[in-house]
Amino acid sequence: MSQMTGAVAPHLKHPELYIGGQWEQAAGGKRFDTENPYTGKTWARIADAAPSDVDRAVNAARAALDGPWGSMPGSQRARLMIRLAELIERDLEAIAAVETADNGKLIKDSRWQVTLIAEWFRYFAGLADKIEGRVVQDANPAMFVYTRREPIGVVAAILPWNAPLLLLTFKLAPALAAGCAFVAKPSEFTPASALALAERFHEAGFPPGVFNVLPSSSRETSAALVKHPGVDKVAFTGSTATGIAVAQSAVSHLARITLELGGKSPQLVFEDADVDAAVNGVLAGIFGGTGQVCHAGSRAFVQRSIYQAVLDGVVARAKTIKMGDPALVETEMGPIATAPQFAKVQEILGQAVQEGATVACGGGADDGLGGYFIRPTVLTDVKAEDAVMRGEVFGPVVCMVPFDTEEEGIAMANDTPYGLASGLWSRDVQRVHRVAKRLKAGTVWVNTYRRFAPNVPFGGMKASGIGRENGIDAVLEYTEQKAVWIELTPQSRDPFRV
Ligand code: NAD
Repeated sequence: MSQMTGAVAPHLKHPELYIGGQWEQAAGGKRFDTENPYTGKTWARIADAAPSDVDRAVNAARAALDGPWGSMPGSQRARLMIRLAELIERDLEAIAAVETADNGKLIKDSRWQVTLIAEWFRYFAGLADKIEGRVVQDANPAMFVYTRREPIGVVAAILPWNAPLLLLTFKLAPALAAGCAFVAKPSEFTPASALALAERFHEAGFPPGVFNVLPSSSRETSAALVKHPGVDKVAFTGSTATGIAVAQSAVSHLARITLELGGKSPQLVFEDADVDAAVNGVLAGIFGGTGQVCHAGSRAFVQRSIYQAVLDGVVARAKTIKMGDPALVETEMGPIATAPQFAKVQEILGQAVQEGATVACGGGADDGLGGYFIRPTVLTDVKAEDAVMRGEVFGPVVCMVPFDTEEEGIAMANDTPYGLASGLWSRDVQRVHRVAKRLKAGTVWVNTYRRFAPNVPFGGMKASGIGRENGIDAVLEYTEQKAVWIELTPQSRDPFRV
């Protein structure tokens, strides 16, 4: 990691499993390497949880629920969460350095995300003592009926590599607010930041077993966690194919699920849009985070009269995006986070060209930089059925396509199995509301892109997932409803007579 960056050196004090408030070795003492995608070198060796470690973690979580955590009032849970937010802010630089070393994320993005994480814990702390049932007016005056919201129990989180800590927090913060206990299984490519969080969690003073971390290189360990009968809910973020497999396994023992899956999000730019703003929006949507974001705006549809202007603007800026060391604040785009993903993006680009795409800029790996760099790529002359238009690339690759009428633009935008996010560029207020209503996506960003907040729901329609994260209702995703019926009169009734 460069010394000229102002960034601190990444360091993990406890590269072990975190179970029941203790730092533990994996069964058999196995460890695995985690690589820095900028240098391509191992920067940490982490304990490698085996399937047999899953039991320990789930049992520790259950014990927390049966112990002081289960009876702790929401206001006290909130205090602990606020303390955690303070510790995250205190150690922002150290946590951001770990995330950047593990994932190749720009240091400025890692700092931004760690700042957000603290905000997430604060927001959900505010909800921890506001979980309420309701009194239901039953038709029979002899009945008093009310509902309770109870913690769902032990939550298993299965996490991806692209925004490891932020996506963990999207699950952990509402789960803690609801009073659940938690077992996190970070991606095998980015196990470190969950352990960095565990260090601060430990210091915050939560009871043992509330939060457990099982880093593992083994998908069998992940699968064992999902199908463990002691897990009450599985909260998954990752690819659609894995999500379906995880959901099937979770449902086999009737665990609850939320799935945050892939996307193929459209940008829909109308001729009445501010062209400069739209150009910036398309750039932000696909080259922010090196395109390795589920909400990447990877298909840009532009009304024909301004198509060339938007294309020229995007290509001109894409060619000047500064790639390099993610730890330098002046770097604008970092590497692809993993070796397999680097290979996959190149393969998709090769196939796109074979299918007839024109490369307006970029088009492949940048060999001059070391690391897993793909040049910012704009493709034109693509057809709706091309693989690059159908499947998720998860890299800095945007397809740009002209359209003529509003109807055609909406149809093109919705022509995807996914439904995570969308961008809409127009200054016509009537059009904005008309089109926003018809886009089949969980988020519509209008004249902006890539905005998130703890109080705004996020999640997908169609193949992009089940359920929502964030927003006031996210806490309810970690609760079970119970109805309580009470007979108000002293007499008992013969069940066979009215
Ligand atoms: P992935 O599906 O390959 O892996 C996700 C997690 O599942 C990893 O922790 C992995 O170890 C685990 N896993 C893999 N096979 C498993 C199995 N059979 N049983 C249990 N666990 C298993 O996804 P990824 O490559 O890590 O992440 C990228 C994907 O995540 C992209 O598709 C992206 O769109 C999606 N994503 C979605 C969102 C969202 O909020 N909708 C956010 C970020 C990423």
